[in-house]
Amino acid sequence: MTAPSPGLDIHFEGVVHLYPSDEGDVVALRGVDLDVEAGEEFALLGPSGSGKSTVLALLAGLHRPSAGRIRLGEYDLGRLSNRQLLRLRAAEVSLVLQDPARNLLPYATAAQNVEFSQRGARARGHRPPWGAVELLEQLGMGQLAHRTVATLSGGEQQRVAIATGVAPAPRLLLVDEPTSQLDTQNRDQVIALLRDINQRLGATVVSVTHDPAVGAAMPRTVTIRDGRIGAEGRRGQEFAVVGKDGSVQLPPDVLDLMPPGTLVRVRRHATGVDLSNSELETDDL
Ligand code: ADP
Repeated sequence: MTAPSPGLDIHFEGVVHLYPSDEGDVVALRGVDLDVEAGEEFALLGPSGSGKSTVLALLAGLHRPSAGRIRLGEYDLGRLSNRQLLRLRAAEVSLVLQDPARNLLPYATAAQNVEFSQRGARARGHRPPWGAVELLEQLGMGQLAHRTVATLSGGEQQRVAIATGVAPAPRLLLVDEPTSQLDTQNRDQVIALLRDINQRLGATVVSVTHDPAVGAAMPRTVTIRDGRIGAEGRRGQEFAVVGKDGSVQLPPDVLDLMPPGTLVRVRRHATGVDLSNSELETDDL
């Protein structure tokens, strides 16, 4: 399996997203800044309702941001016409939905599903560099190629669903909750498959997950809370992120000590910066 084209780099600048509703707009993203290098693999973590699916839908070109800018490689998503967005979705960006059944035709074989997902790319003049059986073999699923999807286990269906996402040779693979409802062994196989795709195909791979095991297995994690980037994990260590406007989201355990409205002193000294709760230090004032 050779890399047909390099992964897409991702840049979010002050991205705001609103969903209109009868009771007023729901603010799903409140100024997201995010930079991802071409060919990176990372997981987006966060509680339900924090904005993860909205980030994924924006990356997939399914919504346009209400404000701010999203750049994917050479594409400025806000400036693409509907036709250009369709082409991007058909050929360069793949979205694997959460439930494998939503990605697959149950009465077709795994290979037929892979072929089917290559059709849209072909129709838009993009030639996937591999045949369906060849791709399944390369991804360690050759034995599933001629089996009907409905007869496969949940873990096998999830791996085939990911293969259909890879089928058009995308430069960005988006995977929503890749391990939900899988046991430990199948979960580890899916994590290994995503790693393999990232390393051999060179695609940027973004997974959205609740699963701490997936987060722990990723070289980079980004935590989103209440529509803002809260923290970044690198090799198991978590860091707060300073946004482009200078704002920092405090981790929940620190927020317990410093609830919203707390006055905080920020002091620079020779070796770094101190944050302190000013009320504990009134004698100093
Ligand atoms: P997550 O994927 O982390 O669960 P979402 O991106 O789905 O979060 O949602 C972020 C916020 O936007 C939530 O408050 C959610 O209720 C709201 N939201 C998501 N989709 C819609 C929609 N189609 N209409 C109205 N509000 C929505």
